[in-house]
Amino acid sequence: MEPASMAKDYYEILGVSRNATKDEIKKAFRTLARKYHPDANPENKAEAEAKFKEISEAYEVLSDDQKRQMYDQTGHVEFGSGGSNFTWQDFSHFNDFSDLGDIFSRIFGGNFGFGNQGSDSFFSGFQGQEENLDLITNLRITLEDAYYGSKKTIKYRRNAECETCHGTGSKDGKLNTCPVCNGTGQQRVVQGQGFFRMVTVTTCKNCQGRGRIPSEQCPTCHGTGSIPTTENIEIAVPKGAPDRLRLRVKGKGQSRFGRTGDLYVVLNVEDQQDIKRVNDDLYTILEVSFPEAALGTEKEVGIFKERIQVKIPAGTQPGEVIRVKGAGMPHMNGRGSGDLLVEIKLVVPRKLTQAQKELIEKLQEEPAKKHSWLHPS
Ligand SMILES: [Zn+2]
Ligand SMILES: [Zn+2]
Repeated sequence: MEPASMAKDYYEILGVSRNATKDEIKKAFRTLARKYHPDANPENKAEAEAKFKEISEAYEVLSDDQKRQMYDQTGHVEFGSGGSNFTWQDFSHFNDFSDLGDIFSRIFGGNFGFGNQGSDSFFSGFQGQEENLDLITNLRITLEDAYYGSKKTIKYRRNAECETCHGTGSKDGKLNTCPVCNGTGQQRVVQGQGFFRMVTVTTCKNCQGRGRIPSEQCPTCHGTGSIPTTENIEIAVPKGAPDRLRLRVKGKGQSRFGRTGDLYVVLNVEDQQDIKRVNDDLYTILEVSFPEAALGTEKEVGIFKERIQVKIPAGTQPGEVIRVKGAGMPHMNGRGSGDLLVEIKLVVPRKLTQAQKELIEKLQEEPAKKHSWLHPS
């Protein structure tokens, strides 16, 4: 396993140029996904798996505007699971490739998305020895929450480890080998005869695949090792959090016989009516009057609790976009912010006082020079 700091060239991995479009990136991934499919490489399966994971990591980053931007700027990306190392938990594109279903279903055993989180590899995980104990939940936040960073409390249900028996399910902590499966946790059912014999392996019903059973059941959890619990957990939403960001809360998933999964909180950052987000830039509309646009002025724009001064140069046209550097969304890596883009909307008064009317009429009578101000070429 390489160190987290080692820079990877995701563009090189996918064989695309630095300014490749999303379509080109998707196409490159598809081609490589077919090439490195472990089934297509039976003689060097491990290598193909590693390669497949690498191209999936590259695709995960380059297909996502925010991650790609962060990668372009800093040369590395923090994954949702909280580290710099990509795991299958970070891959969010299974559904984008449903038409490649044959590939994914063969690799992941039809278990799209959140399957087999206990293992870092879907390839070794999907045989089913390890039960997926992770939980996933959504958290809706406002754009303002993401702008400032915030703390949110979420409430959800899980099976927590039984404190009486520390998850063993056993009153005295002692466990005996399951007599039904002899500790293998599996039962083999043989069907058919002779050459056409088929062996089906199922989970042992007596011990639920554990291979061991409590000598005496824990009275608190009745031998299950876990207790249904309602959890209230405080989630720290990082400043600049992008939509769909996945935050991992370690050890807050399901608990089963001493093993506990993680909780994944997926952020849904809601759009704001007057402020739109495009990657790390914020976009808003500012109304100005004709004299303000013609003569130039400075106006204040409210971005959440911030008051941002916007310089409107003389001769600003309706629809023109003024960029205020660094007044956008903070970058999640803590290094600076995106920009604020202010689109100028010219407001024409519906009613005029007599004095105003006379002034405008006077303006209109102004003798046209080579290029009239009213009808600029
Ligand atoms: Zn058993
Ligand atoms: Zn117990």
